[in-house]
Amino acid sequence: MIKVDNSYKKRIFTDSKDIKVLELKKKVENLINEVEKDNPFDYTQLKNFENDKNADHLSVFKFKKAIMLEISKLKSSSIPDIFKKRLKDIEKNIYLILIGRYDKIKEFLISQKYFILIYPYCNNAAQPIGYDIYQKVFDNLYKTQLSNNDKFKRAFFEMFNNMNVCPYCNRNFINPIYKSQKVGCDNNKQSPDIEHFYPKSMYPFLSLSISNLLPSCSFCNKVKSNVDTLKNSISPYEDKQDFEFKFLIDSSNILKHKIKLETKSDNSKILHLENLYSEIHEDYINDIYLDVLSHPEVHTRALQTLLEEDESKQDKSKKEEWYKSFFRNYYNEEDFHKHPLSKLTKDLYLHFKNLDVN
Ligand SMILES: [Zn+2]
Repeated sequence: MIKVDNSYKKRIFTDSKDIKVLELKKKVENLINEVEKDNPFDYTQLKNFENDKNADHLSVFKFKKAIMLEISKLKSSSIPDIFKKRLKDIEKNIYLILIGRYDKIKEFLISQKYFILIYPYCNNAAQPIGYDIYQKVFDNLYKTQLSNNDKFKRAFFEMFNNMNVCPYCNRNFINPIYKSQKVGCDNNKQSPDIEHFYPKSMYPFLSLSISNLLPSCSFCNKVKSNVDTLKNSISPYEDKQDFEFKFLIDSSNILKHKIKLETKSDNSKILHLENLYSEIHEDYINDIYLDVLSHPEVHTRALQTLLEEDESKQDKSKKEEWYKSFFRNYYNEEDFHKHPLSKLTKDLYLHFKNLDVN
């Protein structure tokens, strides 16, 4: 899992480039920033902007309006009363749900442990009556407001335009494609998946929550599917690293190494990461090892430069340069989303730090 920016500027997007809309967006962002300096956060002040004539161009107000409309329909439907009561909790916390910082949404979920609006999709026990109706409403909201809405979908991916690689596996590229011309009947718009960290089957009311949405590769999205990630998983939006790669000598061949993944969270298990890396990327690791062992002088010099403890600004950029020429990848954690296997490569470098390559 690679860390992804969850700062206030990354939680609102717009389908317009109009200067008035962008000004409104900036004001709303500033308000969120101010609100998050207080304790407790009070996002309800966002109400002050929702009647602006450009509000519908901002994801937060557009989604809020659509959700509120559907909740009012649900409240006058035949859905059981217990749902109607709980839907009021969503209305009350709608801004937290839509643009709240990741950790605040997690706190909210934990405080709602027995919330009827959260239900394990794959649980064999019967769902509460009415859950399927409510779940379908939010599933449709996600489709109409975002996944089938070309303009907003594109704006969503623009927020991640420097993210080239899936934040879950750090293996597959996820760049969208917008071809200017069609070739026959092809699809000229292709985008990565939009992954719900807390699955929308189980947490329907988070289906449009920005801190629950991440671009991901289709593989991770499919593998992760309906697992309850509240228990022991780490979101890429969390300020934590969830695993480290270790390299062990293969007992059957001392020139070969095996990849082990050390972690305390369930992410690796859910995404089958250790298996995937072991099956596919051990050759990559062994090639670097062989290279180091075959040219120890060159690599010792490179490593020495990399390992210098003095991190003045000039040395730092030199270090990054050396690292790139040596490992063909990015040194800084903030750049890990730019290239596949950057986490694996950095952990290999840290492993070399403790080895005498001579
Ligand atoms: Zn992936």
